Amino acid sequence: MPIDTSLYPDNWNSLALKVKEAALWRCECCEKRCYKPGEIPKGLTRSEWTADILQVHHRNHDTSDNRLTNLMSVCAACHLDLHRSRYSPVSEGQLSLW
Ligand SMILES: [Zn+2]
Ligand SMILES: [Zn+2]
Repeated sequence: MPIDTSLYPDNWNSLALKVKEAALWRCECCEKRCYKPGEIPKGLTRSEWTADILQVHHRNHDTSDNRLTNLMSVCAACHLDLHRSRYSPVSEGQLSLW
């Protein structure tokens, strides 16, 4: 396997999907059920549905450590909290990766 030094691993999307499916599309912090891709209701504004979208969090905050055991699915609000509590604030745009 070639060493991938980029921040986004080639298989990031399928990896993230695996994590979210394993969590049954729920946030692992607050257990909120989130939208699957394609399930987002029409008529919601972006800020409305982005709050109910799952993101993938690195438990040890090492984004190069993409073992499934290091990844957890969290909703946007919990994800922000996870980072606010331990680290200097990251912008929401960055969060889908962290
Ligand atoms: Zn949550
Ligand atoms: Zn994170």
